[in-house]
Amino acid sequence: MPDHESKPQVLLVDDSVDVHRLVKVRLKAEPVEIISAMNGNDGLEMARAVNPSLILLDLDMPGVDGFEVLRKLRADNATAPIPVIVVSGLDSCADKVTAFELGAADYITKPLEFAELRARMRSALRTQRLLALLAERAEVDGLTGLGNRQQFNRRWEQEFASFARYGNPLTLAILDVDHFKKVNDTFGHPAGDEVLQGFARIIQTCIRNTDIACRFGGEEVAVIMPHTTPNDAFIVAERIRNSLQSNVWPRHPEHFVTVSIGLAGASGLIEGLTKERWLEAADQALYTAKRTGRNRVILGSLQPGAAPATTASPANVTPPAARAG
Ligand code: GH3
Ligand code: MG
Ligand code: MG
Repeated sequence: MPDHESKPQVLLVDDSVDVHRLVKVRLKAEPVEIISAMNGNDGLEMARAVNPSLILLDLDMPGVDGFEVLRKLRADNATAPIPVIVVSGLDSCADKVTAFELGAADYITKPLEFAELRARMRSALRTQRLLALLAERAEVDGLTGLGNRQQFNRRWEQEFASFARYGNPLTLAILDVDHFKKVNDTFGHPAGDEVLQGFARIIQTCIRNTDIACRFGGEEVAVIMPHTTPNDAFIVAERIRNSLQSNVWPRHPEHFVTVSIGLAGASGLIEGLTKERWLEAADQALYTAKRTGRNRVILGSLQPGAAPATTASPANVTPPAARAG
C-alpha cells in the first residue's frame, strides 16, 4: 500500500520529454504528485522504490518497452498491485488486447485528451483506494481491532527479513491472558469479549505506533517490536502487565485479569537464526511464565543451546486473581 496518504504519487514512464512536460502542466491542478521516469528500466526501479498509487506507461520506448515493463511489474509481488494505465501512440486492437492481458488497468491513446486522462486517472485511483482498504480490512481482527494472524505472518516475515539484512534490534512478544476460560465460565462469553477488547486497548496504549500487535489466537496476542532491544521490550511488557492487572472491569469489578508474557529478542545479528526458531523461543518463554506462576514477563534466549529463560519480572506481586478470591 502506498505510504503517501495525502497526495497519491503517479509515476509517468515515457521516453518523450514533451509528454512529461505536457502531462505536468495539464495535470497541475490534480491532487496528485507526478514523478518521472524516462525509460523502462528506470520506471521499474522507481516503481519498486516509491510504490506509486498509479503508473502511466508508454508502450513504444527504446530498450525495455512498455509491454516488458508490464510483464516485470506483474512478476514482482511488490509492484503487481499497482494499477497501470497504458498511454500509447499504438492504437491497434492487438496492442490493446496484449496490454490488458498483461494486466493493464486501462488504455488511452495519444494524442492525449487531458479531460479523458484526468477522468480515467481518478477512476483508477478510486478503485485503488477501495482495494487498499479491502486489503487492510482483511488483515484486521473483528473483535479487538488488532491485526489478525494473516497480518502477523506478513509483518513478521518482513521484519525478520529486515533484521536479517541490517541487524537492527528486534523483539517479539507473545501475551496470553491468564485463566481466561474462567472469565468466560464465571461471567459469560460477552464479559470475555470485553476483556479481550480491553486487553487490546491496553496493549495499544503501551506500545509505539511502529510496533505491530496482532491477535494470534483466542486470548493470545503477538507484538512485533522493530528497533527494540529485548531489555527495552521488557520494560514495555511490564507496563502492559501492570496496566492490565490494575484495570477494573465494569462487569466484574471484583475480578482482576492478568497476563503472562514471553519475549524473545535480539540487539544484533545472530548466526543461523530463523523466524520459526524465534517464534518458538518467545512461545517457550511464555510457557515458562505460565509454569512459574503466571502474571509475569519472561525473557527467553535466542542463543543456540542457552537456557530457555534468562530474566523474569519480579515474582513478589500478589496475583490479583488471588486477591479477588
Ligand atoms: P492459561 O492461564 O493457561 O492461559 O489458561 P486460559 O484459561 O487462559 O487458557 P485456555 O487456552 O484454557 O482457554 C482459552 C479460552 O479462550 C478458551 C476459549 O473458549 C476462549 N476464547 C477464545 N476466543 C474467544 C473469544 O473471541 N471470545 C471469548 N469470550 N472467549 C474466547
Ligand atoms: Mg490464557
Ligand atoms: Mg491460550
